[in-house]
This record gives sequence, structure tokens and C-alpha cells, in this order.
Amino acid sequence: MEKIDRREFLKIAGAAGAALVAGGCTAGGSEDSAGRGALKPGGGDMTYRINPKTSEKVSLLGYGCMRWPLLENPVQGQSVIDQEEVNRLVDYAIEHGITYFDTAPLYIQGWSEPATGKALSRHPRESYTIATKLSNFNDFSAQAAKKMYHNSFKRLQVDYIDYYLLHAVGGGSGMELLRQRFFDNGILDFLVEERSAGRIRNLGFSYHGDVKVFDYLISLHDQVKWDFVQIQMNYVDWHNAVNDADAEYLYGELSSRGIPVVIMEPLLGGRLAKVNEHITQQFKMKRPKDSVASWAFRFAGSYPGVLTVLSGMTYMEHLVDNLSTYSPLEPLSQQELEFLLEAGDQIAAFPVVPCTGCQYCMPCPYGVNIPAVFAHYNKCITEGAILDTAASEYKKARMEYLIGYDRAVPKLRQADHCIGCGRCLKHCPQQIKIPRMMREIDEFTESLKQQI
Ligand code: SF4
Ligand code: SF4
Repeated sequence: MEKIDRREFLKIAGAAGAALVAGGCTAGGSEDSAGRGALKPGGGDMTYRINPKTSEKVSLLGYGCMRWPLLENPVQGQSVIDQEEVNRLVDYAIEHGITYFDTAPLYIQGWSEPATGKALSRHPRESYTIATKLSNFNDFSAQAAKKMYHNSFKRLQVDYIDYYLLHAVGGGSGMELLRQRFFDNGILDFLVEERSAGRIRNLGFSYHGDVKVFDYLISLHDQVKWDFVQIQMNYVDWHNAVNDADAEYLYGELSSRGIPVVIMEPLLGGRLAKVNEHITQQFKMKRPKDSVASWAFRFAGSYPGVLTVLSGMTYMEHLVDNLSTYSPLEPLSQQELEFLLEAGDQIAAFPVVPCTGCQYCMPCPYGVNIPAVFAHYNKCITEGAILDTAASEYKKARMEYLIGYDRAVPKLRQADHCIGCGRCLKHCPQQIKIPRMMREIDEFTESLKQQI
């Protein structure tokens, strides 16, 4: 991204902000603020938003800690966190203005919190804010929930948590599960008390799924005073989310109440980092130097009620690219916004599986690598040629699908090993009918093999 001077930036930001507000996106409680002065990959300063409750500056780019780099453990033959690389990424992120780090007890089979805590505790506590969650998906007792909550402090090496979330509400049985996890056991009351005691600085929830649950929790705002809410928002989900939970609706409800919004899945599980050739060409024509992913980050960051946009950055190149997009943010113009929403509708029309790669469904007791199967299938479908048997590239696309499948997913972990036990179903926040999709993908793969 080319460097622009501050005056020009403010002019663009003002014009685009006005355009977005006119388009129905009212501002929430946060506002832009000048960042730090160190050299940034984007050539300027990180864009910050202000938390209206604490008045602290929050970097527009937040670090999602659910995809830390892994190393093969030569002794046990299993993967372990590459702590040295995690430290390097965290150091670089803090040095370049990132203040917000988001983890959960569940991430990376429980390894994310300790790894994040180790890396962050090497920095002054006031230089970062940490978000973690109550991932009480299996045991709904108050005792288990409190144990999980207290463990987070130990694993993160902190004596207060900046942002604490009820994790992934809205999934499974919706309202019933919500009651079991947070109301019947008194845990929401406990967390509100912990906030009063100062051990939680901001209390919110991350939402997936049943829109009734979202509406119900928002109706409690006068009572609970949600300090922030985390939602899935990107230019596809703005108008095309599963379960009628369009991001336009969720964002509108939150920003009209002045509740700061934290964004997850700005890249829709990575799908918006690599879109089909036709849309990619249009991106490149408009902004030749920008990555495909940068469009999705500019979309999420352009809404003024957004506090931070989370990205799970495993590799330094992703961190540098995202820093570049937000140092500083160049908000979308009205024309760019319209173009992106149209592209989002086109992408939504592709028959992909709405898997974001969150891994909540893992491990499968029969060894199926569920997110890897869906990721490979989605990648090939999004590229397009595999769907058109009359296309000149069809033969090549078919071979690439089959060879790429064996490379991306070991044979013993492919869709044909799904026995349909259904154990994964209740864990999927996107409510994907996983066994059915596995069967369909297996049949699709077999049909491609028959054509050789
Ligand atoms: S339904 Fe299939 S993918 Fe899901 S847990 Fe059972 S075997 Fe694994
Ligand atoms: S299938 Fe569902 S739970 Fe599993 S990785 Fe995809 S979105 Fe997450």
C-alpha cells in the first residue's frame, strides 16, 4: 500500500466514513485515534479505536491466537507449539502497534492460552490487552466453569483479564444450551461480580448461530451492560450469513446501542484470501499492489463501531500484510463498498461448505480431519473450473483436485472414513451437517476418480 500523508488520510477517512454512515452503518462507541510513531509495514501508523468504557486505545488489528505455528514433536510424533516462533510473532506484533490478543481455553487443544501467556508475559502488562473465553461446552456445572475461568489466569500469567467472553453462544440447541451454560448454574451472575471486582475489565460474548440467542442477550443489555460483542463479519456474511444472522443485522443492532464490536472471521475461514480468478482480476485492476485479503480487512475495519478485527496469523507474511492494511486503514469508498458487497453475493453463490476452520468439531474419533477436508473442497470449488465439465481447464482442475486432496489430507483422514456417528454435529458453530457433507464430498471425489 502506498504511503499517504495524514491530511489526505483524514480526508479519505472522512469521506468514506460519511458514505458508510449514509449506507446504514451507524457509529458505535469507538473512534479512530492516532497511533504510535514507529516505522510500520504500511509506511504509517496503526489505526486505533477507543474503547468507550475504559478510554484505552485498541489496535484495529487484533491477534487471533487460535492458529499458532506448530512443530512436529519427534519424541511423541505429535505436533507441539513452536514457542520460539510464537514469541517472535508476538514481539513483532507489539512492536508494530498491536495491543489486542484473543485466545480461549479450547484453542489448539488447550495449548493456545499457555503459549500466548508465555509470549506476552515477556512484555509489560500495560502494553497488551488479553481476551479469553468461557468455553464450557461439555460440563455445564458452576464448579467446572469456575475452574476453567481461574485456570485462564494461571495459564495467561495475569491477575486480571481485559476482555472476557461467553464463548460461542447461539450454537447447538440455541436458547436451551445458553441457559444450561450460563443461567441455570449462575455463571453469568458470577462473571458480572468478577467484573465489579475488577478481575474482568470488559465482559461480552462471542456469537455464532441462532439469532434468537443473539436477540435475547442483546435484550439483557440494560441489565448486564455488555462491554463488547464478538461477531462474524465480512463482505460475504454481510448479506449471506447462515441462519439469517446477517452481519448487517448484527452490526446494526450493536452499533445502534453503542456496544463496541469485535470482528472474527474477517476472511471467512481463509476463503476471502483467495477468491476466484474473475474477482481477483477486478481487485488487482482497482488496487494492483494490494493483496486479496486486504480488501476483506478494509471492509471490516471501515465500520466505525468496530473496536478490533481479529486475524489468526500463523505466518509472519500474514502479520506483515495485515499490519500494512491497517497502518493506517484506508476506509472503503462508497463505490468500493458496493463492489465488495456484489462480489460477496457472487462468492456466496458458490456451493461451498461454510466451514471457517475453527476446529471445534475436532478430534473426530474416527480420525477424519474435518476442517482439512472442507478446506480442500472449498478451495477447488471457489477456483471454479471443477464445476464446469465443459470448461477447457476442467481436466486439469479434476487432476489437481485429486492429487491436491491426497497432499492436503492423509488418506486415513479423508471423508470416506466418516462413519456418520454424528458426534461432531453439536460442536459446529456454523451448524454444518458434517456427516452428510462428508458423504457428499466422498461421492463427489469418487465421481472424479471414475472419469480418469
Ligand atoms: S460424523 Fe463423521 S466426521 Fe463427525 S465425528 Fe463422526 S465419524 Fe467423525
Ligand atoms: S466443520 Fe464446523 S466446527 Fe468443524 S472446523 Fe468447520 S466450522 Fe469449525
